[in-house]
Amino acid sequence: MTMLSSPNVWREFFQNYYERELNKIAGKISTGDGTEKSIYVDVLSHLALFREGVLAEELFNYPDQVIEDAKNGISLTDNIYDVKLENCTPRFVNLPVSRRTLIRDLRAEHISRFISIEGIVRKVTEVRPKIVEAAFVCSHCGKKVRVYQEESKIKTPYECPACKSKRFVFLPEESVLVDSQRIKIQEYPENLKGGEQPQSIDVYLEGDITGIVNPGDRVVINGIVRANPRGQGQKKLVHMDLYIEGNSIEILQQEYEEFEITEEDKKRILELSEDERIYEKIIKSIAPSIYGYEDIKLAIALQLFGGVPKRLPDGTEIRGDIHILLVGDPGVAKSQLLRYVHRIAPRSVYTTGKGTTTAGLTATAVRDEVDGRWTLEAGALVLADKGIALVDEIDKMRPEDRSALHEAMEQQTISVAKAGINAVLKARCALLGAANPKYGRFDRYSPIAEQINLSPTLMSRFDLIFVLTDDPDPARDTELAKHILQTHKLGEKLEKMRNVASEYTRQSLEGEIQKVVPVIDPDLLRKYIAYAKRTVFPVLTDEAEKRIIEFYVGMRSKAKEDSPVPVTARQLEALIRLAEASARIRLSDRIELEDVERVIRIIRKSLEQIALD
Ligand code: ADP
Ligand code: MG
Repeated sequence: MTMLSSPNVWREFFQNYYERELNKIAGKISTGDGTEKSIYVDVLSHLALFREGVLAEELFNYPDQVIEDAKNGISLTDNIYDVKLENCTPRFVNLPVSRRTLIRDLRAEHISRFISIEGIVRKVTEVRPKIVEAAFVCSHCGKKVRVYQEESKIKTPYECPACKSKRFVFLPEESVLVDSQRIKIQEYPENLKGGEQPQSIDVYLEGDITGIVNPGDRVVINGIVRANPRGQGQKKLVHMDLYIEGNSIEILQQEYEEFEITEEDKKRILELSEDERIYEKIIKSIAPSIYGYEDIKLAIALQLFGGVPKRLPDGTEIRGDIHILLVGDPGVAKSQLLRYVHRIAPRSVYTTGKGTTTAGLTATAVRDEVDGRWTLEAGALVLADKGIALVDEIDKMRPEDRSALHEAMEQQTISVAKAGINAVLKARCALLGAANPKYGRFDRYSPIAEQINLSPTLMSRFDLIFVLTDDPDPARDTELAKHILQTHKLGEKLEKMRNVASEYTRQSLEGEIQKVVPVIDPDLLRKYIAYAKRTVFPVLTDEAEKRIIEFYVGMRSKAKEDSPVPVTARQLEALIRLAEASARIRLSDRIELEDVERVIRIIRKSLEQIALD
């Protein structure tokens, strides 16, 4: 097969499209700057237009040969400084969507092809040099020998070409080294269907694209798919692991918008926002299969809409994210609530504090078992940046997370300083946590606060804390039992309906289904939330402000001195955040008295349960 690609064609391409860049690099080289040089090629805007896109196609299918040609082509180009552009790396960005592959869809057919994947950075290793060409000196006659390195294990010369001796000394300072780093990319949490485990893939980076991403960053990686036999040395297996040899990284704007809201959607959203019963409708759309808990569901609704983050004149940042804790007896549907929120909230990450194999809640720096490098791995709160972290059994979290959680919840960053790793990761997320009482069940005769296995400082970082006790109550129990039985029956019927699918059965069921089906369709609710967060930034009216101050002062003077959750200015901030969220639900730019009253009622509930006994 003959290919168009050749160093000369590439010379023509670079000379035509990238003359300015070539001159810039040449200028640096002429002033003695010897660092590695990258030249970025925009595939969609340039390469795809050159020679009818043939060169681009060849790059996708035969990247090894084509990138080598491109590299050689660069060294053939002319520039105003008249220096030779050796060792420049062509890096390709902005690939067509047809080259975009989901991590879970990577297959044998992709091996050795140039592709593009998108995801969130889960892990990064420290940046360390790697030997590309090793220099040795013969210990017998002093002859120098150079060996090109391709495997992960260093290759030494077989024998000295001059004296046939087999003893050599390695010369690091005369070897050619390149910076290297391994990172792990994981699928976006929001693209997973309920309960699916995210898949991930390793990416190997070299040169000036090392050390530029942090765990939690959202990136596009362009590169060549490679396969490695599993196992080591003699024990190599026929089964392969896939990884990507990264050619370029595009770091995405964190704020990018994942939903498209059409004019039609917008009309429905505005209509809903004017509905007098909007709060009730939203409450009824959150976990309809779970009976009761209207206050908790309202709190969750407020959390989904969120307050407005602020930057004060002195540079201090105040979070808009609302943190909620549910503490309760076993079997009161805490886990179910969390799972439901995971299903409807965009960018949510579900984890349990107990999990020992995961990276935990915040971040971990550990030595890699394979190559001994320090690795920084993002925990749930980093992966949930700009979303909601759902943490079940938060009382059982690891000790390292306990201390890091303070910073994560208030400053919304996580600082890691350990060995070769020094990073500040972003964790701008809301936290919805669930915990069991210290001894499994609440003891009715001792104070509730003493039975929660979280420090007071950590508890004070939650905007709302709900206590769920499981006391027998015949009236409620009957209603609950009826509700659960009805949901189960409907579940069975729906299962059957999938097979029967007669229009008649469907219609007769519709009435019943209404009772346990969300009032607002989850897709529309997600769009509603996204729309509100994007466009509504409510401010306090005078009336609302007065009421907030009055309530706060009253709460402080009433709070018992030994109160487990001291009333501090934190609660004032919580109040404002919650009131902002309440106004957002109506898509209102003004925080009215009604918002403050709604929020006060729910804060009182939360405080009563926790503080008063
Ligand atoms: P927890 O995490 O609080 O220990 P789970 O979420 O595992 O409890 O709930 C246990 C079971 O009880 C679940 O199947 C849940 O659906 C059911 N359940 C408990 N309370 C309710 C309720 N109020 N409405 C509907 N189902 C409930
Ligand atoms: Mg549970």
